[in-house]
Amino acid sequence: MDVSHILDSLNDEQRQAVAAPTRNLLVLAGAGSGKTRVLVHRIAWLMEIERLTPTSIMAVTFTNKAAKEMRGRIEKLLDLPPRGLWFGTFHGIAHRLLRAHWRDANLPENFQIIDSDDQLRVIKRVMRDHQLDETKWPPRQAQSFINSQKDEGIRAEYIETSSDLYMRTMAMVYKGYEEQCQRSGMVDFGELLLRSHEVWLNNPQLLAHYQDRFRHILVDEFQDTNTIQYAWLRVLAGNRIPLTVVGDDDQSIYGWRGAKIENIQHFQNDFVDSMQVKLERNYRSTSTILDAANGLIANNGSRLGKQLWTEENEGEPIDLYSAFNEQDEANYVADCIHDWVKKGNLRSDVAILYRSNAQSRVIEDAFIRQQVPYRVYGGLRFYDRMEIRNALAYIRLVHYRHDDAAVERVINVPPRGIGNKTISDIREHARMQSVTLWQACNEMIELGSLKGRAANAIQKFIDVIEGLAEGATDLPLHTLVENVINESLLKEFHGSEKGEKGQARVENLNELINATRDFEAEDEEMEPLSAFIAQAALDAGENQAEEHEDSVQMMTLHSAKGLEYPLVFMVGMEEGLFPHSRSAEEPGRIEEERRLCYVGITRAMQKLVMTHAETRRLYGQEKFHAISPFIREIPASLIQEVRLKNTVTRPVSFQRANEESWATAASSEAAFQLGQLVSHPIFGEGTVLNYEGQGPHARIQVNFLSEGSKWLVLSYAKLEAL
Ligand code: ATP
Ligand code: MG
Repeated sequence: MDVSHILDSLNDEQRQAVAAPTRNLLVLAGAGSGKTRVLVHRIAWLMEIERLTPTSIMAVTFTNKAAKEMRGRIEKLLDLPPRGLWFGTFHGIAHRLLRAHWRDANLPENFQIIDSDDQLRVIKRVMRDHQLDETKWPPRQAQSFINSQKDEGIRAEYIETSSDLYMRTMAMVYKGYEEQCQRSGMVDFGELLLRSHEVWLNNPQLLAHYQDRFRHILVDEFQDTNTIQYAWLRVLAGNRIPLTVVGDDDQSIYGWRGAKIENIQHFQNDFVDSMQVKLERNYRSTSTILDAANGLIANNGSRLGKQLWTEENEGEPIDLYSAFNEQDEANYVADCIHDWVKKGNLRSDVAILYRSNAQSRVIEDAFIRQQVPYRVYGGLRFYDRMEIRNALAYIRLVHYRHDDAAVERVINVPPRGIGNKTISDIREHARMQSVTLWQACNEMIELGSLKGRAANAIQKFIDVIEGLAEGATDLPLHTLVENVINESLLKEFHGSEKGEKGQARVENLNELINATRDFEAEDEEMEPLSAFIAQAALDAGENQAEEHEDSVQMMTLHSAKGLEYPLVFMVGMEEGLFPHSRSAEEPGRIEEERRLCYVGITRAMQKLVMTHAETRRLYGQEKFHAISPFIREIPASLIQEVRLKNTVTRPVSFQRANEESWATAASSEAAFQLGQLVSHPIFGEGTVLNYEGQGPHARIQVNFLSEGSKWLVLSYAKLEAL
């Protein structure tokens, strides 16, 4: 048998893994060392050499996108589509099993998968049934409690309740929720795994059927499996189905969602006769990028320990750009992409990575302005996000009451006790009287055709909008938007969602306030409120950019896992942003943040650019951020600081920022010329080399005799001309 097409393009270690005797195999290796490639080639090997049929192979990937990519690569290797292969995420595969065995799973045939919004609605209903006060027992907290129990594989009845009121209450809600879901045939995400795991356990015959059917299971990104996923694999594989798992402990970034790095160590104990292969050669990145990643991750204490090397050449240094603010940062990125494209490169080879979704807005704005097609991957574009759409609906109503779509969207958001019946009565009234929903609400109140609770709730809705509209035209746009977000109680509502999600939604809402602040600064001619609404609608609706084939890829660091791009930007490299401020609170979190940074760096193939902003307005506040400590952990010799060239050679004069508060300034202007000798209270004497920016952002580069060249913010530098 000719195996050259499967093995030729592999190195010795990879070959050893691909052609390993069919038994349990763990490939533990760093980023870009070909783990995913090994999985793909091993599947091809199993089919061609071991003669396994596609239907007897199960491959588990982290995202559906990864599954699709893998399928394409196998098809290419084998020159035919691998029909019947079980490919997918844990959730996808579990779902498929439950559909096939709904009876065994004790589910109705047409059971429904519910998303987290539906889930929350059910939880609230349960809490109301138990007369729990939502202010004392936030439903979102109960939701995250339930989800994390499910991730751990724990049913309500097994919760250790002891004398703890909190645990008792949560267990009670969990139990009520389980019953409610069971009655109406609803299955949430965690339940998919938990339920199919139980099917294996309770139904030995069915399990045996699948253990006969599957002859091999392969898992990518194994380091991010959680407890129930691991248990699921273990039960299914038993001692019968060989497993191939690949992973990298340095890339475990889902601890906050229950992933357990320890599963890597458990694997060798739990799966007997397992073989381990290490891959240490990186094929993805230049040695500069790789050295940076190695330097950074060496700061983590608990590692299984491996060192990556490459035969790639050094390549270009890592660019570090210090922006004045987030706008400057976004423009810089857009400019770099223009240069990149001008040199004949593809935009789709560029990725912009950020820590939190809210950071994308400023960059999206710059891309729209500069006509850079982009696609936000693994997340919604800013103006498409639920909380932003809700806020915009309120803003639109303040502007124009007869916007029916906006009424529909927020009449009961946040929930104010308006039932479906009332809403459909209002719709009916509007239809019969040919009026808008807003008019219908008002008329029905006047006519007294709404009763009691419903009437009160509708009146409340009307009052909120009218209250906000009062004097709205005299307010600056951002104040108005801030009022809307607060008084509509949207912030409270979205913020009560526990964990990262709730926080992200609040961050996004604050970011919307920011957007209006910037907006005022940019557009003075049109009436700001209507201009802003129009722009937001255009941004959200016009998805041309998304359909553009060659577009820049924007995503969070988390969703960049497993991917690679010739040019990578890591933006917002600032303390508090990345590492995220919350990581200081929990032990172990800073190491997880560092691993996330490692994931980011190792996505880059040819060139890595890092940026940070000295001041940043994010989440509604302007802040000075120190540069991320992660940058200091990268060997300095690999980094090149970028300074924009300023070709103007006339004498430079800078307006002092913030004149009044600058009490010591003798005059409001300080003039320096390029090449002029100056003195600084700390750094001593030096020569002016360059300058950039204006007003409060004006900076000056001085080559100090003792300290070398430095950039200083002029308004703080206290320089004196000599
Ligand atoms: P990550 O940890 O980021 O998921 P990985 O270990 O899965 O990375 P791959 O994505 O499989 O790595 O491989 C990284 C890159 O190196 C890919 O472009 C892959 O095609 C290439 N590569 C891997 N092994 C070889 C090889 N032996 N020869 C040439 N290229 C290779
Ligand atoms: Mg991979």
